[in-house]
Parts: sequence; structure tokens; C-alpha cells
Amino acid sequence: MEDRIALYDLTYRQLSELLTGWGEPRFRADQVWHWLYNSLAGDFASMANIPKALRERLSTETELQLLTPLTELESASGQTRKVLFRLPDGNTIESVLMRYHDRRTACISTQVGCGMGCVFCATGQGGLARNLSAGEIVAQVIYLAREIRRVQLEQSTFQAGRSQVAVHPVSNIVLMGMGEPLANWAATWQAIETLTDSRGYNLGARRITLSTVGLVPGIRRMAQEGLPINLAVSLHAPNDELRSQLVPVSRNHSLADLMSAVREYGQKTGRRITFEYALIAGVNDSLELARDLAALLGGLLCHVNLIPLNPTPGSALQPSPREQVDAFSGVLEAAGIPSTVRMRRGIDIEAGCGQLRQRQSGIVVK
Ligand code: SF4
Repeated sequence: MEDRIALYDLTYRQLSELLTGWGEPRFRADQVWHWLYNSLAGDFASMANIPKALRERLSTETELQLLTPLTELESASGQTRKVLFRLPDGNTIESVLMRYHDRRTACISTQVGCGMGCVFCATGQGGLARNLSAGEIVAQVIYLAREIRRVQLEQSTFQAGRSQVAVHPVSNIVLMGMGEPLANWAATWQAIETLTDSRGYNLGARRITLSTVGLVPGIRRMAQEGLPINLAVSLHAPNDELRSQLVPVSRNHSLADLMSAVREYGQKTGRRITFEYALIAGVNDSLELARDLAALLGGLLCHVNLIPLNPTPGSALQPSPREQVDAFSGVLEAAGIPSTVRMRRGIDIEAGCGQLRQRQSGIVVK
């Protein structure tokens, strides 16, 4: 494996250069790219329009399997599926598939662990092991897409041959799993460009949401790129003092700078900004803080997701009670800031950030 080229790590241009370097005609890259990202081929043998000699060379010199599923858990409702993957170097990451009536959303990881250290997060307590490569990010989506397509094909066969297979088995992506995407900029952005490439998976940029803890330079860079992907900012507090306690990395990025970058992103892309706010009992859920939050976000095209904290084992932090969540939400609504109380999906399968990996690796949160 070490000597082989991971195909999902290649940009279209790199794939094209590889194949033309092997003496193949230019159109061959289009064909292989189509097999990888449109047909979701899991092996080279199925690439029917690729000459046998090239398929053999691909199978000896390149690699398609970057991820090995170790554990797969399905929620009792059947709507949420969580997969723990082993990477080639033995590290593990996790991805979650959420099925809604109108979409199938993959929540994927961008790093092994995370170095941001948010005090309420299982992944943050374990620290950062390494960045994922672009291929390791893309491969999570491809794995889940294959699974969806396999089930759809089974169902369509069952339904007397009527094709029910979706063009985009994974219809939405949220970069909200383990890791901070903007701390792994190059690989994350390459993965986004690969998945939105019209020659392959061709996912609309508006169907992708990047969730960040608020790394200001990365948000400004996204604004320059001009892809209208959705931006979600994990805020968790409306003032610098409290925020720096909950999200230690925010000490490097004041709220004033963050809001300035966010407003720039909103103006450049025209996208509504989402703010994530984990409600922690007695810590950041007072009505005074709700009023401060409303003042901070005033005049911005935005939406607030209020998420009662997903408790992590061993942590004293607890979710806000329902009455407090409703009161907090009421203050925002009265100030004209739209908000939603987000359901904690898949709680029975440890679908909170980092929880499955944590259990598997035996990490204990202090
Ligand atoms: S909440 Fe996100 S940014 Fe914070 S430590 Fe966890 S994974 Fe990292």
C-alpha cells in the first residue's frame, strides 16, 4: 500500500498527468474519473470501458481502498448510521449518515482527532493525531454513497425493475465530524473541489456545509474562493471571555474579527450563515447571554442552531433543561433572530462527535 498511489488523493489534473504519463490518451482520465466519482466503482474489474492492460496496471500501482470499516451502528429509528473506519496507518475516524425524507446527509471528518480543545467535545479531549488527506475525506462520502446506492438498487430490483437510484446517493455533506476543516485547509478544499467537479460526483456547492470553530483566516480564504458553500460557525458564547473558556482556540480570534470575517463571507456568497450554539446548563444558557447573542447577530442573514449539549462520558457539563432551551430560543425569536432547537440524532449509537472512536480506542475523558 505504501508504494501505491491513492487514486482518491489525486485531483483531476493529477490523474490526467498520471495516465498520460503512462502513454494513455487524454480522454482516459475522464473515463477513470467517471468510474470513481459517478459510478462509484469499488474495484478496477468493473471499469468496463477501460482496457484490460490499464486496469491491471491500475490495480498493481494504485489503491482504491483507503478506508476499512471496523464498526457500523444503526440507530433504532434506522435513520442514522455511524461508521468507524480504520485508515492505512491504523488510526481511526468516524462518519455518520443521516437519512431524512428529502435528503441523505453525510457528516464527515477532516482530521484524526482535533487540536481545538473545546471543553465539551469528546474529540477535542483526545487532541490531534494528524490531518486527513483529501482522499481520506472524499472516500468517506464515496463509501456512504456506495452503501446507499447498494440499498437503492436492491429496492429497485425488488420493485419490478423500476429504477429508484438517486443521481447523488449522498445528497448533502456536512464537514462537521472529527476535526477542524479550516485547520486542514489544503486537503479539505481539494476534497470539496473533487466532490463538486461536474465530471464526477457533481454535487452542488450549496449542498455542502463547512462547520468551523471560527478560524478567521480560513473564513476569509473561503470568501475569496467564491464557492457558495454553507458556512456554519460554532459560537457557543456571545462574548470573548466566556468563549475563550469553552473554545480555547478563540483566544487567537476575537469575536469582533470573527464577525467581520463572517459578514464578509455572507456578502460575497449571499449565503445565510448558521451559528451553532451548544446550550450547557448554568454555563452559557442565561437569558442575559441570549440577549447578548441577539445583539451580536443583529442585521446579519443568519440562523442559530441551539443544541442541548451532547454529554460526553466523564464530563461534568450537562445539557440545559428543556424549559431553559425554550426560554433562550424565545429571546432570540423576539429579537428577530431565527433559531431551531436541533434534535440530537443517533444518540443511541453514540453519534455525538468522537464518541464511537473514543469507546473503541479506550480513551477516557478526564
Ligand atoms: S467541537 Fe469541533 S473544533 Fe471543537 S474540539 Fe470538537 S471537533 Fe474540534
